[in-house]
Amino acid sequence: MNSISNEFDILVIGAGPGGSVAAKVARENGYSTCIIEKEHLGENGRYKACGGALAWELVEEIDYPEDKIERIIESLELHHTDGDDYSKKGKGAVIWRGIFDKFLTDMALDAGVILRDREMLTNIEKKGEKYCITTNEGKYWSKYVIAADGVTSKTLKILGWPYFKQEDIILTITKEMKSTNSKINKELGKDTVHLFFGIKDLISVGYAWLFPKMETITVGWGNQINLVKNSREEFKKFENLQFVKGALEGSKLEIFKPHLIPVGLRPKLYGDNVFAIGDAGGIVDPISGKGIPYAMMSGKFAIEAIIKCEKRDKLNKLGLEYERSLDRNFLKVLKAKRVARDKIFQNDENLKKFLSLWEEHRSSEIVMKNLL
Ligand SMILES: Cc1cc2nc3c(=O)[nH]c(=O)nc-3n(C[C@H](O)[C@H](O)[C@H](O)COP(=O)(O)OP(=O)(O)OC[C@H]3O[C@@H](n4cnc5c(N)ncnc54)[C@H](O)[C@@H]3O)c2cc1C
Repeated sequence: MNSISNEFDILVIGAGPGGSVAAKVARENGYSTCIIEKEHLGENGRYKACGGALAWELVEEIDYPEDKIERIIESLELHHTDGDDYSKKGKGAVIWRGIFDKFLTDMALDAGVILRDREMLTNIEKKGEKYCITTNEGKYWSKYVIAADGVTSKTLKILGWPYFKQEDIILTITKEMKSTNSKINKELGKDTVHLFFGIKDLISVGYAWLFPKMETITVGWGNQINLVKNSREEFKKFENLQFVKGALEGSKLEIFKPHLIPVGLRPKLYGDNVFAIGDAGGIVDPISGKGIPYAMMSGKFAIEAIIKCEKRDKLNKLGLEYERSLDRNFLKVLKAKRVARDKIFQNDENLKKFLSLWEEHRSSEIVMKNLL
């Protein structure tokens, strides 16, 4: 490894869950690896607008420390504006993304990955066999590039890759509302996440949510971007629901942040030694917007594709290998969910049928067994 001349086998752009896992796996397999991250990653990482919900299996799989968990969740309450409520049991965790993402980045650093934070990719070009990446601080060189820089990926934009379709982008607004533990326990329940639906009266294609952290309520709203007329007004409609008003009474706004979620795949996931992983590739559950585990897995699969194809001397199969392992593991289901999403949000009747099925079944089961 020659970190002084800034040459690496693999450059990872972005230290989100996808980038950190990709970098860790790469380094563990002997590749010199560097992560370029535009934000400063202090002890608690950087702020990221997110509900912060994790399935309990993921918490266990990565041995995520309990003292970094804000709340352990036991149920999901689904409220429809028509007045119908549905309840889904299941264990999960709510975390702060800064802390969670930094935990994964630290695992990569422990494996020997180099991190260059506070450095933003400003250009990328292929020069001979290698990519030359320019940041506000300098230049880096590598054979492979992992684009893990999120939905608006500058890496892929500069390389001229196609962007998502408008109907595959959700505009979200997040507000972090400082409250108290006792008020949250009283209004939301100590171990409950609340989701709000209503095509006619609330959100045409999407939903809103209240995620309890220890002393903060993460208030979120998301709607398909090309259907949004006035996001602030639409968000206000949600805040004015009686239940939401009561829960937020006396709380103080600490952060306000819009962000995008891709809910359909980018038309291209691989090209010329560059891999789109996580949100950069649109590898997200199109119904729930859950993306953390898929970002992590796609990062791992990208590196495994490199390892496998190098070993077999079949570098012309890199893209095929990457997409095949995504498909085998979960992408087929996400693609089916993208189709199902249009049906679910076609009208309130379909939506309520889905919500009532969701009480008892996993959404993948509803879609793959055609229960809708
Ligand atoms: C409001 C909201 C709520 C969500 N809630 C959940 C949830 O509860 N559970 C769940 O599983 N998923 C949730 N998601 C989805 C989840 O946040 C994403 O799927 C996940 O963060 C994707 O990880 P990633 O590593 O691909 O990208 P990101 O986490 O977006 O990381 C990208 C990184 O790249 C860096 N970067 C960007 N541009 C550059 C550049 N030019 N140079 C260098 N670095 C750069 C960024 O600073 C960032 O650190 C939510 C998303 C939103 C918007």
